[in-house]
Amino acid sequence: MKQSKTLIPTMREIPSDAEVKSHQLLLRAGFIRQNASGVYSYLPLGKKMLRAIEDIVREEMDDAGAVELLMPALQQAELWQESGRWQTYGPELMRLKDRHSREFALGATHEEVITALVRDEVKSYKRLPLTLYQIQTKFRDEKRPRFGLLRGREFVMKDAYSFHASQESLDEVYDRLFQAYSNIFRRCGLNFRAVIADSGAMGGKDTHEFMVLSEIGEDTIAYSDTSTYAANVEMAPVVNKYDPSTETQKELEKVETPNAKTIDSVAAFLNMPAEQCIKTLVFKVDEEMVVVLARGDHEINDIKLKNLLNAGTVEMAEEEEAAKLFGASFGSLGPIGLPADVKIFADNAVRSIANMVCGANQNGWHYVNANAGRDFHVTEFADLRFILEGDPSPDGEGMIKFAKGIEVGHIFKLGTRYSEAMNAVYLDENGRTQPMIMGCYGIGVSRLVAAVAEQFNDENGFVWPANLTPFDVHVIPVNVKDEAQVKAADTIYEDLRQAGMTALLDDRPERAGVKFTDSDLIGLPIRVTAGKKAAEGIVEIKVRKTGEVVDVPVEDVVRTVRSLQAEL
Ligand code: ATP
Ligand code: MG
Repeated sequence: MKQSKTLIPTMREIPSDAEVKSHQLLLRAGFIRQNASGVYSYLPLGKKMLRAIEDIVREEMDDAGAVELLMPALQQAELWQESGRWQTYGPELMRLKDRHSREFALGATHEEVITALVRDEVKSYKRLPLTLYQIQTKFRDEKRPRFGLLRGREFVMKDAYSFHASQESLDEVYDRLFQAYSNIFRRCGLNFRAVIADSGAMGGKDTHEFMVLSEIGEDTIAYSDTSTYAANVEMAPVVNKYDPSTETQKELEKVETPNAKTIDSVAAFLNMPAEQCIKTLVFKVDEEMVVVLARGDHEINDIKLKNLLNAGTVEMAEEEEAAKLFGASFGSLGPIGLPADVKIFADNAVRSIANMVCGANQNGWHYVNANAGRDFHVTEFADLRFILEGDPSPDGEGMIKFAKGIEVGHIFKLGTRYSEAMNAVYLDENGRTQPMIMGCYGIGVSRLVAAVAEQFNDENGFVWPANLTPFDVHVIPVNVKDEAQVKAADTIYEDLRQAGMTALLDDRPERAGVKFTDSDLIGLPIRVTAGKKAAEGIVEIKVRKTGEVVDVPVEDVVRTVRSLQAEL
């Protein structure tokens, strides 16, 4: 590719709206441009990177026995109504109407479309298992699109769906795709971990997220410092090491706590540790108000609450609603004296606190020496808090530590969630009708471009690895008015092409400084410069990553590039 004939609009300045390195460099090196918030054009170099990652994904998916197809991005509302998600998916789903006022969505994901397709075409156990995938643009009206390609509103995803006649068959394909995913992220040169995840809105049980370890990750991973255990922090269970307290119970006392509304201020005012206080939160669980208690220094995990109660929706109650029920505002709520029909759930840790501090359901007042069982009733004790660093690892080995991660892939065992709702059934060996068992498997392909970009750079620009780069070699004639330099560069460009390598030829009439700065910014693994010595048939080869430089005769360039690539 000749640089004068393509579009690589580099920038010297760091764009002010780009917070993270990958976003800044993708803009500065001319890989992408923003159209609207979370919506990007992939310029020629960006498109090459996207293609390079797609190629890796395709190879590994095909090797794992999955088959590629392409489904529509425009999806009729009826399908989403069948699955029930037209109502539950929320504002992330981009909805529109056609000229006949029929409702559609722009595909945020494709469970509905593929389940309908397979339902209509596959009727017998003999055609199962079947694993299909596509690489396609997805639309999600994210609340906070950010970090460039990392969280877009229009982005490229690889999504795969598998259909089975037995759980064992699903387990087998799941394991195979787990392996394929590991291969993909390894080939992308990423430092990643597979973590146990929550199934969230998707409604499955077994699920793993693939996380690239990175400072800018939006997710927190809880991992063991001595074993391979890793889980999304939202999901990690807390080991129940809490025995009921044997301390003597003191007399309940109501004390005035003016202006003390947070656990910290109450604890400071009463001169008690936060561990002695309990926080009282009110949640709306499928329209029912429930109370949740946790130790003052712990955070309640609403996903655990949702799972415990098998609820559809769980959200914090509005302060006014809570005040109506309790007669006090948020800073003074407590479990004592609540209406008998209000359910009270408490985190396991609460069980081992004696003589605790809690709100008195009267603004500006708290109780001290409150005791569960004696002063208030607990409907159920359960694991309801977020795990913390220093907690024992749930697998019994080591201690929990935290790391930040970028989610690049997600695999789920869906079971029959969609096949039952949408009547995707097959006839088994005995001629009986059975719902298909399903799995689904996503990779954020455009997010991967950003994750790779985030990993491979230095202060001057990108430093692409040899197997994942827009072009293999940057060929630069320093002065395009110098005949010998142009001739050497053209020869090398053609030799590389003949040898099956890809090259970007900087044939622009720019100053040397501009060309080298751009070249560093673009970050191809190897640069060949035809300068003054071109007249003697000698050019310079430079390795972007190490800065290593060698002078070689023009006819040795292909061989030298090959051996340098092998070392990278
Ligand atoms: P997140 O928690 O980051 O919003 P998700 O759980 O919504 O992700 P999935 O529905 O599992 O994501 O989608 C599969 C994959 O698609 C994710 O693992 C991620 O790599 C990618 N992805 C999801 N949302 C976006 C987005 N807004 N922009 C780019 N990639 C995305
Ligand atoms: Mg999401």
